[in-house]
Amino acid sequence: MNPRHHLDPATVLAHAAGAIAPEAAAIVAIHLEACGECRRAVARAERIGGLLLEHQHVHAAAEAQCERLRADMLERLDREPAAAATTPWREAASEPDPDRLPTPLHPYFGSKYSGLRWRWMGPGRHFIRVRGPSGGTLLMLRIAPGKRMPVHGHGGGEITQILRGAYQDSLGCFAAGDVADLDADIEHQPVILPGAACVCVAALDAPLRFPGWLARALQPVFGI
Ligand SMILES: [Zn+2]
Repeated sequence: MNPRHHLDPATVLAHAAGAIAPEAAAIVAIHLEACGECRRAVARAERIGGLLLEHQHVHAAAEAQCERLRADMLERLDREPAAAATTPWREAASEPDPDRLPTPLHPYFGSKYSGLRWRWMGPGRHFIRVRGPSGGTLLMLRIAPGKRMPVHGHGGGEITQILRGAYQDSLGCFAAGDVADLDADIEHQPVILPGAACVCVAALDAPLRFPGWLARALQPVFGI
């Protein structure tokens, strides 16, 4: 799996700082399991955060040392290759169980695809909605090939990890392993690519807004 769509830098920083809602953190964790590039970005953000704290501490103690520390920090960042990530990550099993959901989803959806209790929301479209511990929503969708999602913008940001299948929208093709980490002002209408149903899971920190008659028709069904 070689993801082509990655976490937004702001999400990487928020994650490294532990300043992210648990619902979004679960989606980030799934992406990090699949993506070495974003794991390295998180490790680098954590390292920079640690060095800044160190810098701040010494700054309070001795103003004169600051410039030296800053130079030292920059030098260390240059010297240490980004690949030298120190965050331990569980290696994927050599033969992953195709029925097994990613571990970060287990508290919300259980451990197996075959155990999911899908709810119907239209022809070829199913969903499961779970309320997270901080009041955000985790939404898993299973959409059949060739089906469209309704056009929607995002009330306050949305982060979606693609678990199976693939979809296409104005931003490109998103396949298993990719993450769509979108701003609130992006509107898009994914179309599921032929072959297999697309299963994706999203953390929503605000209600979705669906414009038009479809919006009015779907919103009560979604309940979001
Ligand atoms: Zn990534």
